[in-house]
Amino acid sequence: MTRRYDLQVHTDASPCSRTPPERVAAAAVDAGLDGIAVTDHDTVANVESVRDAAPDDLDVISAVEVTTTEGHLLALDVTEAPPQADPLTVIDHVHDQGGVAVLSHPFDALRQYYETDLEALAEAVDGIEAVNSRCVSRRFNERAAAFAAAHDLPATGGSDAHFPMEVGRAYTSVEGDGSLADAVREGRVRPGGRGRYLSGHVATKLHQFRTVSGRTITDLTSGRFP
Ligand SMILES: [Zn+2]
Ligand SMILES: [Zn+2]
Repeated sequence: MTRRYDLQVHTDASPCSRTPPERVAAAAVDAGLDGIAVTDHDTVANVESVRDAAPDDLDVISAVEVTTTEGHLLALDVTEAPPQADPLTVIDHVHDQGGVAVLSHPFDALRQYYETDLEALAEAVDGIEAVNSRCVSRRFNERAAAFAAAHDLPATGGSDAHFPMEVGRAYTSVEGDGSLADAVREGRVRPGGRGRYLSGHVATKLHQFRTVSGRTITDLTSGRFP
C-alpha cells in the first residue's frame, strides 16, 4: 500500500500564510492526500484545529518548521516547538520528543540554508527534503537529493504551501503501514510532485504587499523568499 503525504504545509499560524486550519484540511482532501504535516514556523498552535477540521481518514501530523541558526528544519511528530537553536541541538530536541528531523529545503540559496558541519548534520538527521515546491531553482532540490543519496538518507517531499491551491504540489510517497515517523526512520519514503513553482512566491509577495504596503518595496527587491 502506498500513501501520499504532503510533509510541509503552513497555516495562518505562520506569519507568511493566511490560510485558516479548515481550509488547509479541505485542500488536503481535495488534493487526494492521505496525510499532511502541519509545519508552521516555530509553533504547533494550529495543529489541533487542523485535526478537528480534518476527516478521520486524513492523517494530520503534528509538526514544526524550526528556524535553526542555519537552515529550516522539519520536526515531524512532535508535540512541542523545539528552540530556535543550532541544528544539532534542535535535532536532539526532536529526538527527545520521539519525532523525526528532516532538513527543509537545505540548499535553497534564496532562503535560509545549511553551509557548516554538513557531515555532522548528515549523521544526526533522519531525512532530507529533496522536493520542495517553493525552490525556484531546480538545482536547489537536485543538490538536496544528491546529498540524501550520498549519505544514504531518506528523502521527502512537501509543497511548503502557504495558500490552499499549493497543497499537494509536492508530496512524500509512503510504503507500508504504520506511522509516518516510522516510515521515515525505516526509509520507506520517496519524494514526488512538482519541485519548482514560482507563483506561490508571487502570491506571498502580493499578500505582504497588501498587509504592509509602505515597507514592501524593500521586501520585493531583497531577493529573499519566505
Ligand atoms: Zn522553510
Ligand atoms: Zn515552509
